[in-house]
Amino acid sequence: MTIFDASRPGRRGVELPAAKTSTPAGLAEGELRRDLAWPELSEPEVIRHFVGLSRKNHAIDVGFYPLGSCTMKYNPKINEEMARLPGFAALHPLQPEETVQGALQLMWELQRDLAEITGMDRVSLQPAAGAQGEQTGVLMIKAYHRARQDLERTEVLIPDAAHGTNPATASLAGFDVVEVASDKRGGVDLEALKAKLGPKTAAVMLTNPSTLGLFEDNIVEIARLTHEAGGLLYYDGANLNAILGKCRPGDTGFDVVHVNLHKTFSTPHGGGGPGSGPVGVKEHLAPFLPGPTVGQDESGFHLVVGGPQSIGRMRSFYGNFGMHLRAYTYIRALGKDGLTTVAEDAVLNANYLLHLLKDRLTVPYERLAKHEFVVSLPKAIKEQTGVRTLDVAKRLLDFGVHSPTVYFPLIVDEAMMIEPTETESKETLEAFAAIVGTVLDEAVRDPEMVKTAPHTTPVRRLDEARAARQPDLRYRPQ
Ligand SMILES: *Cc1c(COP(=O)(O)O)cnc(C)c1O
Repeated sequence: MTIFDASRPGRRGVELPAAKTSTPAGLAEGELRRDLAWPELSEPEVIRHFVGLSRKNHAIDVGFYPLGSCTMKYNPKINEEMARLPGFAALHPLQPEETVQGALQLMWELQRDLAEITGMDRVSLQPAAGAQGEQTGVLMIKAYHRARQDLERTEVLIPDAAHGTNPATASLAGFDVVEVASDKRGGVDLEALKAKLGPKTAAVMLTNPSTLGLFEDNIVEIARLTHEAGGLLYYDGANLNAILGKCRPGDTGFDVVHVNLHKTFSTPHGGGGPGSGPVGVKEHLAPFLPGPTVGQDESGFHLVVGGPQSIGRMRSFYGNFGMHLRAYTYIRALGKDGLTTVAEDAVLNANYLLHLLKDRLTVPYERLAKHEFVVSLPKAIKEQTGVRTLDVAKRLLDFGVHSPTVYFPLIVDEAMMIEPTETESKETLEAFAAIVGTVLDEAVRDPEMVKTAPHTTPVRRLDEARAARQPDLRYRPQ
């Protein structure tokens, strides 16, 4: 039964005072719809409806969520407490500066901390997600070359292991995407890179560690080659969790970075909620930053609009302030030593889980993993039973855990990308490895069970392409 079917005329959760006029101020008579079929329900019925919906979802607060590349770490509740303080939660984005000095100071300090963590000179908190941070970064790179009258740079080089947002960003910004092959160890193939770098190169986009969870140990040489060719080096910060406090992208030659606050810095993630993807730049890109950023002088903290070379505003107001606040709380709660421990524990957890799984799954790159690792479904299982990685991923859901990322990166056959994060216990990792073992045994013994999974979730197997492209989210009364 839907909430609409449960409706009974006259049932109410709250009584609103009777309206003094029949048409609210500012609305013309014809603009007010009087025939909306709102359901009429009591407060407990509404509560049960929404709590019931929330229980159909998997979430990090419900169970293990090893969705590789997404850093689904636990979101500490202290972040939420701070975000709910009335002095923050009740602010209006158009309040005069002198009444929001605390909020501006927080943003100023977050800009400073993110610059310190990434080894950059300046930061803008504006972008609303990693993908928008990429767009901001690549537009700044474009503006940089233009400002130097260096107009023939039409190409962005991207490794074949890259996340899909990297080529999408480059082509949205008007560049031609040039793919660079990976070498046998899973890093950028230096010879392939050299062959593609040249006077047309505007930028090279990389993430480090890569989406294979492997640290790019040629990074300093890659930066040197890129700069020698006249290009700039972009850092996709989605995997920053692995190197927090250990290694700074700015020190290894990157010119511009984005940081996903909803990954590395524990702000809530997924479900369509707001993200945040601040960008950091070296001094030579600072004139192109989108405004406003937060600056400080003797009289206090101020919003500073972009200069004449700024690429302009990327988002309304200053980005998602609530996410800045949560990330700031996280950074302050942990401090430098705590953040370094985050990276150490994330890497330790990934390598322990890899150790637990390596005899059951195929390991394409036998190297020390960073925060995540990529494995394949053994060929023998695929050939003898027809079970594929997708089936295993679906069957895992029946055991109350989220599936890893699958079929990404594209260069690994039947890939599963597993990122446990630092917030999971040894017992959780061991329980997950046992579940994977159970499912692989089942794939051999009873392949149909796995191929038709999931069996216990509120919805069964969906057409995922249609679910994403033609979502049916609206209730239509009969
Ligand atoms: C998540 C991710 C992105 C995109 O970030 P969003 O915040 O989801 O827009 C880019 N690159 C990599 C490697 C990622 O994992």
